[in-house]
Amino acid sequence: MRKTRLLAGASIVAAGLLALTACNSGSPGTAPGADGAEGGSDSSQLWEVASDVSLDGSPTYERMVAADKVVVGVKEDQPGLGFKDPITDERGGFDVEIAQWIAASLGFDAEKIEYKTIPSANREQELVNGNIDYYVGTYSITDKRKESIDFAGPYLITGQGLLVAADDDSIQSPDDLAGKIVCSVTGSTPLQRIRDEYAPGDTVEYDTYTQCLEQLRAGSVDAVTTDQAILAGYVAQEPETFKIAGDTFSEERYGVGVPKGDTVLKDHINTLFNDGGDVWTALFEKNLAPAGIEGEQPTADE
Ligand code: GLU
Repeated sequence: MRKTRLLAGASIVAAGLLALTACNSGSPGTAPGADGAEGGSDSSQLWEVASDVSLDGSPTYERMVAADKVVVGVKEDQPGLGFKDPITDERGGFDVEIAQWIAASLGFDAEKIEYKTIPSANREQELVNGNIDYYVGTYSITDKRKESIDFAGPYLITGQGLLVAADDDSIQSPDDLAGKIVCSVTGSTPLQRIRDEYAPGDTVEYDTYTQCLEQLRAGSVDAVTTDQAILAGYVAQEPETFKIAGDTFSEERYGVGVPKGDTVLKDHINTLFNDGGDVWTALFEKNLAPAGIEGEQPTADE
């Protein structure tokens, strides 16, 4: 497997933001940046909508064909990854575009995608219940989750990090959390890890990371913890307010959640990823690199 490294120290993020502002201001389809534009949603020139699709033995694909649409679970408050512009309602970001790329490979263009915003804690259940066909939203591959669903991927590797107020120098690593209140999201791997492996003063949990950001902004928590790739998107939007504290302290391998047992769909997505390095790179450069995130495409070997 090719090694992927995601680094997003505060200075790197700040430099990335400046570069973004200098190069891309005003151009549509860029990642969220200083001009407040949402991650662009139209990368359809990067791929063709497949017309000769055969996914014999995939019940999920059969359901899509019968419904003449694809129902995709996503996030909507993670700039650069899964984002919905509150003004235009337009969706964008790396994960959303990965979802669109998969849909196109199955013969469905962007108009045939129905998005459902689903918080971290509800992902497995929505897949098990058949309410979504697949899920693309900072979804770490874990053995526990694999008990109820399958994953294609990984398609991105990042790691857990900490977000603090820009003027707070008291936290440099998860070992500095004694007496501190740390916020994360219900049902997420970072919440579990900070409780199991470190000793924060206290933890609080919400459905979404933006709720945690509001708590940090208000000073009622000291840090927000989740994947560095997510945190970098928040810092890129508000570099005066937030910064990333220290390095990553886990490996989070992002997968596409698919219904358990649909090996045909899973293998189709893995092949798409492994054959689609150019598309992957274009989506990464567009959506994640502007926030200072570095990385390479991992081999999809799930
Ligand atoms: N990647 C982690 C997880 O799947 C954190 C991000 C999220 O909550 O989506 O739990």
